[in-house]
Amino acid sequence: MRREAIKTTIKQAIDYWETRVDECCLSVDWSEADSHCWRCGCERNLQRFHIIPHSLGGEDSPSNIVLLCSRCHADGPNVSDPEIMWDWIKAYKVPFYGTFWSIQAEEEYKRIYKTSVTSDLKLIENLAQTSSPNAINDKIKNSLKDLFQYASVHFGQPYLNTATLAGLYRMLIKKLANEYNVKLRGNNDTYPD
Ligand SMILES: [Zn+2]
Repeated sequence: MRREAIKTTIKQAIDYWETRVDECCLSVDWSEADSHCWRCGCERNLQRFHIIPHSLGGEDSPSNIVLLCSRCHADGPNVSDPEIMWDWIKAYKVPFYGTFWSIQAEEEYKRIYKTSVTSDLKLIENLAQTSSPNAINDKIKNSLKDLFQYASVHFGQPYLNTATLAGLYRMLIKKLANEYNVKLRGNNDTYPD
């Protein structure tokens, strides 16, 4: 079954929403909302996404369309209450372009390891058996660059997904902990915050 093409244009959707939703709640500036995803703020080809799905009676009108990249499009809510879409988009607001997916990976890391990338790196810095703290900082930077050779993109996904990025962070931290003889927190240990 072929669905009719969406007639609402990108410009119509922006004109409608920029007067109704304050951009300080969003990852995107309205002046760039024709080229940056309204949820993650990444510069991508944008897709028109029904707020209320077509199959639940959602109309082809600017009030029912937001613009998302394909990655956010796949994650978006498909429900009959139109407020849910904006609740979701606003909940993911980040203040700077280009930070969204690394922030999601850090959240994923916390979910899995019950600690943050930052506190693990601090732990290594504090406990490392070395006379030169600056050397650790350089090491962290260089290791991060090297790390991407150990990951691959999943078939059909033109990006490293959140679990992959979180896994790369963990691999980096394990490597450093090993090198500097630091015992890491494991996800089965319990630690006070
Ligand atoms: Zn996006």
